[in-house]
Amino acid sequence: MSFTLAIVGRPNVGKSTLFNRLVGKRLALVDDQPGVTRDLREGEARLGDLRFTVIDTAGLEDATDDSLQGRMRRLTERAVDMADVCLFMIDARTGVTPIDEMFAEILRKRSAHVMLAANKAEGAAADAGVIEAWGLGLGEPIRLSAEHGEGLNDLYAQLQPLADEFAARADDHTPEIEVDLDEDADFEDGDEISRTPVPTAAKPLQIAVVGRPNAGKSTLINKVLGEERLLTGPEAGITRDAISLRMEWDGTPIRIFDTAGMRKKAKVQEKLEKLSVSDGLRAVKFAEVVVVLLDAAIPFEQQDLRIADLAEREGRAVVVAVNKWDVEEHKQEKLRDLKEAFDRLLPQLRGAPLVTVSAKTGRGLDRLHDAILRAYDVWNRRVSTARLNRWLSGMLEAHPPPAPQGKRIKLRYMTQAKTRPPGFVVMCSHPDKMPESYSRYLVNGLRQDFDMPGTPIRLTLRGQG
Ligand code: GDP
Ligand code: GDP
Repeated sequence: MSFTLAIVGRPNVGKSTLFNRLVGKRLALVDDQPGVTRDLREGEARLGDLRFTVIDTAGLEDATDDSLQGRMRRLTERAVDMADVCLFMIDARTGVTPIDEMFAEILRKRSAHVMLAANKAEGAAADAGVIEAWGLGLGEPIRLSAEHGEGLNDLYAQLQPLADEFAARADDHTPEIEVDLDEDADFEDGDEISRTPVPTAAKPLQIAVVGRPNAGKSTLINKVLGEERLLTGPEAGITRDAISLRMEWDGTPIRIFDTAGMRKKAKVQEKLEKLSVSDGLRAVKFAEVVVVLLDAAIPFEQQDLRIADLAEREGRAVVVAVNKWDVEEHKQEKLRDLKEAFDRLLPQLRGAPLVTVSAKTGRGLDRLHDAILRAYDVWNRRVSTARLNRWLSGMLEAHPPPAPQGKRIKLRYMTQAKTRPPGFVVMCSHPDKMPESYSRYLVNGLRQDFDMPGTPIRLTLRGQG
């Protein structure tokens, strides 16, 4: 399965240079129908072991009239819509211009996968521009020199997991085949640059229900499935061995990772326990939102804690659901105990929603649905750079950073580099000297002041220059 990459950006940043480098002589036919692809070039690209189609929004260099911006916008939008992933390029020597910001805006709204390249980055003259590029809020800029062929490794490193994701998605349409989510090849935090605020049939919200055997995972999935129509495709619900099911849940298109099939294959109990851990692991990697399903009678067992912690470390949004609530007699006290245990045993998931349900009767499933959507929303949250920096100066004033060996650590600038989960970058002096406690102070502050309960928050410190 191949995919399409569009290189977009204002004229003269080096798009064609990169295009030529990726394509070499393998240029595809260009449609000469006026107005159709005149401004778009297409080629078969190679990068390491990756093969893909690349689109270049060339042909704009000549446009000097007032309508340049309008044309650029339309052309970019078309390229973005044609592509699976966009490489947005800026000129690191010039730095970020207002037109670049306009592009970033289009891409944030329109493209599921955006990578950012700061080109012409050979040499120190580009350093300031690369740092500025962080502020576009499109993740870590790839330092690139299209002309000298530098930074292609980093481009590969960002592209490769996406390529895997596209391949896995294509495989979804094959019924009864278990998608082999190779653990090594799976998407890493830093590669998550997509944002999909509203789940659609084409891009359903990916949910995994994890928990120890007998927690009620199959019952829960069946209940949701039984009450809702299936969305599309032969993979949906027909066979219990399918790896994922597509359906609509209260109007939300979802894809739910179903571990039931694999579990049923296990013959002996011992094997079953082991399988359900690696099973849960795959499910977590697959998911956007992880539902940790507990059995109310035996909540927060070692295995539950492990999988919840894993979900946090993998940067997934987490919702904790306590099942079999129908047989619980002292609901009030039980709930209080559960909340207390949750805070104590899973402090890394502070504020994550805890919902009581009965998979058997269906009670509470509407609240679970809402909690999932809220968690997804928080996971996608983005805070503007201006707001963040106002916030940062308040935090610094309230509680100044330490001065190890008499040298005060200066925090200069902060920006949100990514979402899903929210990731922030602080430019500072002596990042290696920053104590963990001060980072925690900032993370907890972010969580509280920007209303991001439950979601993992990443904070990266960067030295400047
Ligand atoms: P496009 O309009 O975005 O397609 O830009 P081009 O690929 O035509 O490049 C514009 C100019 O930037 C050309 O003069 C290139 O030689 C130059 N250029 C492209 N990549 C680099 C680079 O990595 N470093 C430097 N210094 N110049 C580059
Ligand atoms: P899984 O191993 O996590 O998939 O768990 P199952 O869905 O197979 O459920 C294990 C057992 O718990 C079954 O006997 C279910 O009938 C029972 N069960 C599941 N959900 C509930 C519930 O909400 N209430 C009650 N009372 N029993 C449940």
